[in-house]
Amino acid sequence: MNGDGSLERLRREGRIVVVGASLAGLRAAETLRDKGFAGSLTMIGDEPYEPYDRPPLSKQVLLGMAPADSTALPRRRAVDATWRLGVPATGLDMAARRVRLADGDEVPYDRLLIATGVRARPWPREAEAELDGVFVLRTREEGAALARRLADGPKRVFVIGAGFTGSEIASACRERGLSVTVAERGAAPLVGALGGVVGAVAADLQREHGVDLRCGVMVTSLEGDSSGRVRAAHLSDGSTVETDVVVVSLGATRNTEWLAGSGLGAGPRGIACDAGCRAFDIRGIVTDDIYVAGDVARSPHALFGYQFLSLEHWGNAVAQAEIAAHNMISESADRLPHMWVPAFWSSQFGVNIKSVGVPSLGTEIMVPQGTLASRRFIGVYGYQGRVIGAVAFDHARWLPFYQELVETTAPFPPPFPTVDRHPDGQRPMDADFPDPSVPTHGPTVTLSGYSPADRRMTFTPAH
Ligand SMILES: Cc1cc2nc3c(=O)[nH]c(=O)nc-3n(C[C@H](O)[C@H](O)[C@H](O)COP(=O)(O)OP(=O)(O)OC[C@H]3O[C@@H](n4cnc5c(N)ncnc54)[C@H](O)[C@@H]3O)c2cc1C
Repeated sequence: MNGDGSLERLRREGRIVVVGASLAGLRAAETLRDKGFAGSLTMIGDEPYEPYDRPPLSKQVLLGMAPADSTALPRRRAVDATWRLGVPATGLDMAARRVRLADGDEVPYDRLLIATGVRARPWPREAEAELDGVFVLRTREEGAALARRLADGPKRVFVIGAGFTGSEIASACRERGLSVTVAERGAAPLVGALGGVVGAVAADLQREHGVDLRCGVMVTSLEGDSSGRVRAAHLSDGSTVETDVVVVSLGATRNTEWLAGSGLGAGPRGIACDAGCRAFDIRGIVTDDIYVAGDVARSPHALFGYQFLSLEHWGNAVAQAEIAAHNMISESADRLPHMWVPAFWSSQFGVNIKSVGVPSLGTEIMVPQGTLASRRFIGVYGYQGRVIGAVAFDHARWLPFYQELVETTAPFPPPFPTVDRHPDGQRPMDADFPDPSVPTHGPTVTLSGYSPADRRMTFTPAH
């Protein structure tokens, strides 16, 4: 269904299938209907629930302010779709244009959108991960289970990994008056996403709020009691922390296994797509009928040297879904690129943190407004003489200005004076990101070139 009137037919009576019925999937479906798609729409989701919102799971839900089943995503409009919920997609036949489901059904499509997101990376030692009291947090069920256990008043919560999610969990626990230990392999919380300068502020914040924060250590094992309940965590510095709840917050794994062998360019780093959200096949050729959006996608971005960007950002999932939906039913000349400037928020320990651009690409940082000591500031990140990102701690109203500097690739250090500047803040300093070859938890943005490992076809030189 392409060109010469066939696009009209697609819009009128085509079959669009969306795999992954969550934030990106729902927003794409709504956009398709908004833009006049009148054909059949099938939403396939492995979770048995209608689309719900995840950010409240580590905030309001853990605080006991909202039950986990109350975070359904508001609908922008009716989508008139067939919902296949509680049934995972298990395979894709690209040639026959069919999605295989776990219940044996096959669903044919003219256009397919893949929005299968990510899942929480479990504790790597399976037997220890299965101990009662060991949790991860990604889904509504996981949120409900953890919230229930926190409400029981455990003696101590032990959080492994101080990325955004781990830090938010620690914050919620402290707000509930629970004792919390956080173990982080890096030098400080949030260090992978925001670097060591801002990470040091986050560390002070945690300690001031009573978190027993242990940085530069790894958890070597979890220990259970005779009834299979977790009772302690052992650390690489030889110490042991007694605990009855462990939350593993070690980042995410892309949900791409179901595409193995399909011929699509999908792997552990996500699904590579072009700026118009069209998926690449394993030969590096862009497909015409398969689109990708949300946390599972990795796509090139003009602002960041056309490197492939993987974002675990709510706003990106929405923006990319809207672009993918538009492009799925548009002529090639009308297609739009996904050029969203990365933006992320988090609230923890009473502080509202927001970032724009890609701070983790920055090598230098300066603080043109506010001060690190007051924990109310803007940090601006520089990369090769240009502004590449910014972070605000309780200073978000200035962020749109810095976003414009990112968008216009303004020079770094930025050449303007600010009213509330502190003399030290005008001097760029090393942003102190960890060595990129050392894994850290929780950078919500990953940059990657096109990996040679993604090429799985035989190269035959032409004669
Ligand atoms: C606890 C928590 C807190 C967060 N806080 C913030 C925040 O403060 N700010 C922010 O910007 N972002 C935050 N995020 C991230 C944000 O929620 C995600 O970016 C967003 O959910 C991505 O949407 P998505 O639709 O791409 O993927 P997901 O929401 O992961 O949805 C993918 C869906 O596809 C389903 N699926 C997977 N495989 C299959 C299959 N084979 N067949 C069928 N269905 C499948 C999954 O089960 C899931 O329902 C947070 C996330 C979590 C978990």
